[in-house]
Amino acid sequence: MPSGPEAAARTENSRRLFERASAAIPGGVNSPVRAFSAVGGTPRFLVSASGPWLTDADGNRYVDLVSSWGPMILGHAHPAVVDAVREAATHGLSFGAPTPAEVELAEEIIGRVEPVEQVRLVNSGTEATMSAIRLARGITGRRGVVKFAGCYHGHVDALLAQAGSGVATLGLPTSPGVTGAQAADTIVLPYNDLDAVRAVFAERGADIACVITEAAAGNMGAIAPRPGFNAGLREICHQAGALLVIDEVMTGFRVSSSGWFGLDGVAGDLYTFGKVMSGGLPAAAFGGPAAHMSYLAPAGPVYQAGTLSGNPVAVAAGLATLRHADADVYAALDANAARLSGLIGDALKAEGVPHRVQFAGNLLSVFFTDDEVHDYAGAQAAATWRFPGFFHALLDRGVYAPPSAFEAWFVSAALDDDTWQVIADALPAAAKAAATAIPPAEAGQ
Ligand code: PLP
Repeated sequence: MPSGPEAAARTENSRRLFERASAAIPGGVNSPVRAFSAVGGTPRFLVSASGPWLTDADGNRYVDLVSSWGPMILGHAHPAVVDAVREAATHGLSFGAPTPAEVELAEEIIGRVEPVEQVRLVNSGTEATMSAIRLARGITGRRGVVKFAGCYHGHVDALLAQAGSGVATLGLPTSPGVTGAQAADTIVLPYNDLDAVRAVFAERGADIACVITEAAAGNMGAIAPRPGFNAGLREICHQAGALLVIDEVMTGFRVSSSGWFGLDGVAGDLYTFGKVMSGGLPAAAFGGPAAHMSYLAPAGPVYQAGTLSGNPVAVAAGLATLRHADADVYAALDANAARLSGLIGDALKAEGVPHRVQFAGNLLSVFFTDDEVHDYAGAQAAATWRFPGFFHALLDRGVYAPPSAFEAWFVSAALDDDTWQVIADALPAAAKAAATAIPPAEAGQ
């Protein structure tokens, strides 16, 4: 792996910016995983992005395999999306009043995900899940929420118990500032374990408002639900009068034009969406059958609101992205995920590194283990100490992978021959770095 003065020179501007940022912004970042805590080194400060490429403050270019954590399925600064945003901006940035375009975006979502008859637009995935939980409690008059260890639903107080993603990266069991009362009604169970769900419902079913699950887990690495898991959740919930909240913030409109619902067809009672549906600008949504959504103010008693909700520029970016994402785009996303997985697998095999490249639709991630991973315990048991070297060898060679072993990799449809060459050229050194990494017990000696 390149290191020493040469590597330092290539990141000088990012390094200086990180120092300045660390004085002005807690930890130097506006979302924890960006700080590279799990992999060490200097986070790259990005100045522009186009198609499959990112450019940092030192002028380095990287093939982007993070895609802004999901939204950029078309690649960066796609002309159709940029034109739509420019056009919307010229007509005004925010009205705080209804707009024709927000109706179109709502209809676009409803038209794709059959169980969803109405949606409310919000500003982030966190807001969507927070509001969906409140709505589920309002509808059922119950308190309890079942979530799965390693599933991340944003930084909602009640859902920060054993959340994956940045919480897993930082090794936090939960977060200070979340009170016992806020967490007391949250029941955390192992992912993919229907027996555990049945047991909790047998004991406390009458008090459970909802089960919230990622449609397919992407925040402890990519872990698909076992066949029948989501359908089983639906059945258990319905027998007990609870609601199934399916979080499609990550999978929605990425793994198919109608998200994970398009792959397994299991109908949830409430849905949350984000990322792709706003094309990289801040907007998200939650929705479900009209009978449920009618509990929301002003139609019903459950309060929910937002100054910038339905922001016209974000709505324009979302509409343009969804409308541009045709069958060819989804075919390219699937093909690119398969091709990336093949290249990673070949490189690691050549170095004899135990690994599984796992998929959840076209989300993928690399677990350094021989065993298939079904839950958070399995993800944590993998040799995550191999990841930092693997990651940095890729980064030094122009490939921007997620800076944590617990995050999914997100391809775009914009990857082209040049980018595949960069990836193929970088992987052998990355696999070697993974192979020669030293386990923590030995490193500490
Ligand atoms: N739900 C899932 C499944 C997510 O992956 C995320 C974010 O990564 C969220 C909710 C929260 O979304 P946001 O970061 O927009 O608040």
